[in-house]
Parts: sequence; C-alpha cells; structure tokens
Amino acid sequence: MSPTAAYQELVDHKNYRYRGCAPDPDEPWLAAGSTEQDGKTVRVPLSAWSAPDLDGGEPQDVRIAREAAAIDVCVGCAVMVACARYANTVDADWHVTEPQGVLGGERGLDRHKRLIARRHEVVAAAPDARFDTDQKRAIIKALALRWDAREVAQVAGMDIRTANWQRSHLVRLLGLPKDATRMQLLEAAQARGLVQADWIRADDGTVPAVVTAMKAHPETVQGPRRTPGRRPGRAKFAAIEGQLDFDAELAALTAAPVAVVHSLPTAMPLEAAA
Ligand code: SF4
Repeated sequence: MSPTAAYQELVDHKNYRYRGCAPDPDEPWLAAGSTEQDGKTVRVPLSAWSAPDLDGGEPQDVRIAREAAAIDVCVGCAVMVACARYANTVDADWHVTEPQGVLGGERGLDRHKRLIARRHEVVAAAPDARFDTDQKRAIIKALALRWDAREVAQVAGMDIRTANWQRSHLVRLLGLPKDATRMQLLEAAQARGLVQADWIRADDGTVPAVVTAMKAHPETVQGPRRTPGRRPGRAKFAAIEGQLDFDAELAALTAAPVAVVHSLPTAMPLEAAA
C-alpha cells in the first residue's frame, strides 16, 4: 500500500477522531488517551510521541520513559493497526515513511528494523542474473506446465538434451539435491519469483526434476521396441491423466511473461500489528 493510500485509510477510519494522541479538548497539551499506573490514571503529554529538539539529544532514561508512556496509550488506541500500517509504508526510495517518533505503538527504530528484515527477505527471494536467461525462463515455464520430459522440451522450444541440461543446472542453482523432484524445483523457483503459482500443474510428487531421455519418468514413457532392420519409429508417450487438458490454456499462459523480480517493491505491506 502506498503511503498516501495508507494515510488516507488512517484519517478516514471511523474512530480516527478518538485516537489516543488527539489533543484533549480541555487541556490541548495533553493526549486524549491515558494509561494506568498502580491503579491510577496517568495523563500523557502530546510531546511524548516525538523526541524533543534538544542539543545533544535527550537522556536515555527520559527517552525510554517518554516512549513507553506513548506506546501505552497507543496500545489502547482504536486506530492502532491503521496507524502502524501507515507508519510502516515505504517511499519510492525504500525509506520508511515515518522514520521518527512513536506511531502505532512502535518507535521509529522498530520500523527501521522491520524494514531491514523485509529488505533481506525480498533480496533473498529475488532471482539473480543466472536465472534471467531466455532458456532458463522457458524451461521453468515449461516445467510448470508439463511433466513429461519430451513435452517439457517441446514447450520450452529446445531439444530434450538441452532441456535436461537446463533442468540439471536449475537444480544446482537452486541448491536442491540431485534427486530433487519436479515439484521441489518448482516450489524453489516460485519462492524466488521465477514462476507464478497458478502456472504450476501438480504431479503426484514422484516426477524427478532432472531426467534423461533413457531414464524418463516410468509412467510417462512407453517407447516402441526396435525391430531389427527397421528404423525406429517415433517414441509414443502416454500422458499422465489430465496433462493434455492444458492445451487450450497453454497458448495463453506461454504468451505471458514470466514474473521476474528485478527491483525492490516500492511499498511494503505491514504485518498485522499485535
Ligand atoms: S496508534 Fe498511537 S500514534 Fe497512532 S493514532 Fe493511536 S495513539 Fe496516535
């Protein structure tokens, strides 16, 4: 969500006028919300939500007490979730929208930490240049749609030997074991943003990620016996039930570009605030 949209959502909230940090109508330097301490109601000044502009900053113990008081009020605030969602949005340069002060029950430092954690997640999930080749994209897309080795190669537009080499290379790049299954490869590819979930046709979990022409998945290969003196005919393959139903949608799907993350998103959705 963009900062503007999140801010609008916050101020449009039906309880925004009752927010804890709204000025008290009778004592406008105090917050409308309050906290309890030792059974007594404690009023909190509005200045508790942001650091004072002091040379050398405020003493640490004062800052901790100030932030704790503001956070206590936030916790009882009717718009805390929307407030935190807005405060955690990021701008086009991937900077947190509200870097300072207490908002939504969090300090500016908390928002920075969350942003850094999200950055690492996104960077880890983004495919690197080794995946960003025409052949890699084609073979991943084909593998998502088909599980028969020849059909994968056919859909990818390459010969079966090249297709299998690409599959083997993908297994290595994705850090999977040699005996990884097709579904494991596709899950790893999906986690890196290399393939869309709705392209993936699930198999029974036994189809290997890497096959050779001679060791194709046993359920899919029924090659003809060679008759001495005769040129072998073209191998016949029996598709797993349901696989050949994809033809109609295949044309549309293969025409669509593979979703590859090349840059960080410009907005970060907030995890549901506690
Ligand atoms: S959550 Fe805190 S900062 Fe946000 S509106 Fe409520 S009291 Fe104010």
